[in-house]
Amino acid sequence: MPKIRTFEDLFIDELKDLYNAEQQLTRALPKMAKAANTPELKKAFETHLEETREQVRRLEQVFEEIGTPAKGKTCHAMKGLIEEGKELLDEGMENEVLDAGLIGAAQRVEHYEIAAYGTARTMAETLGHKKAVKLLNRTLSEEKAADEKLTRIAENGVNARAAGLGAAEEAS
Ligand code: ZN
Ligand code: FE
Ligand code: FE
Ligand code: FE
Repeated sequence: MPKIRTFEDLFIDELKDLYNAEQQLTRALPKMAKAANTPELKKAFETHLEETREQVRRLEQVFEEIGTPAKGKTCHAMKGLIEEGKELLDEGMENEVLDAGLIGAAQRVEHYEIAAYGTARTMAETLGHKKAVKLLNRTLSEEKAADEKLTRIAENGVNARAAGLGAAEEAS
C-alpha cells in the first residue's frame, strides 16, 4: 500500500527527508571542518555544525507541532552530495585547492537544503501550519546565510590562493 496519498502525507515525507538529511550533515560537517585548511572556512563549517544541530531540534518541533513522530527517511540526494565531498579528500590536492573544492561541495549541500526547506515551508503555508512555517523559515534563512558566507570565503582569498594568485601577490 502506498504510504503517501494526500498532500499532508507528502508534506510529512518532505520533513522526514530533511530530518535525515540534517542528521547526515551532523556527521559530515565535523569531517569537513577537519579537512579544511583555511581558518575562516574551518570556522564556517564548525559554526554551521552548531546551527545544523539546532535545525535537527527545530524539525523535531515541527513534527511535534503537527502531531507526527519525528522520524527520518534516507535522503539519497544528501548521501550522494556527501559522497562527492568525500571523493575530494582522496585526490591528494594542494591544501588551497582542496579548500576551494570543499566550498563547492558545501554549497551544493546548502542549495539542496534551500530547495527542500523552501518547498516544505510553502507546503506548511498551504496547510495552515503557522508555527511550522515560522520554524522552517528560520532554518531556510540560516541555510541561505551559510551559502552566502561560503561564497564570500571563496571570493575573499581561497580561490585566488588556489589559483596561485595569492602567492604571486605576496611575492610582489
Ligand atoms: Zn497538517
Ligand atoms: Fe541544514
Ligand atoms: Fe532528499
Ligand atoms: Fe545547511
